[in-house]
Amino acid sequence: MKAVLLGGPGAGKGTQAAKLKEHYSIAHLSTGEVLREARSAGTELGEKAASYMDAGKLLPDDIILGIVGEKLDSPGMSGGFLFDGFPRTIPQAEGLDEMLATRGESLDAVISIEVPDNFVIERLLKRARIEGRPDDNRETIENRLRVYYEQTEPLKDYYRKRGLLKPVEGTGTVDEVFERITAVLGKGTDD
Ligand code: AMP
Repeated sequence: MKAVLLGGPGAGKGTQAAKLKEHYSIAHLSTGEVLREARSAGTELGEKAASYMDAGKLLPDDIILGIVGEKLDSPGMSGGFLFDGFPRTIPQAEGLDEMLATRGESLDAVISIEVPDNFVIERLLKRARIEGRPDDNRETIENRLRVYYEQTEPLKDYYRKRGLLKPVEGTGTVDEVFERITAVLGKGTDD
């Protein structure tokens, strides 16, 4: 199974990705998590990422594609993977297609988790109180939503045209959303 989880900030991508990773025994890559780890480790990447993240802006595509390219070559990815928070722009999606094509691979499905904006803002403000993520304040959240509509939403058309887009209703309990996603993805075997 090679799949992408698409959805705006706070759509529940990370939560679902963690469950799907277990369910299908596949690797999970969250570019946001890689960047947060780089930040806590104080690496050059982390320092560069911080200003973008705190402003709710996307990092340059070449940096993100570099991170993903490296991960794609790690042995854990060969049994299938789930990307969460990547791709986020058309150039990233094109870059991913190229990287997979050179490896003789392609995506099986793109799950788009659909949730209304007002729901997302409340959810993210709650997460800010619980987890203390520095990019979960109202101003950054509104920026991230704007960036999502401008740069990431067009990916739905990109993948719809390729017959890969599977929209899933993202409201309800974590388990309800998980059931909907697994119903769409099926058993996840290649046949
Ligand atoms: P996330 O955890 O996916 O919400 O990502 C948190 C932040 O990391 C985003 O608001 C961006 O600043 C940055 N980021 C994560 N993934 C990407 C990506 N694919 N492209 C550009 N920036 C990203």
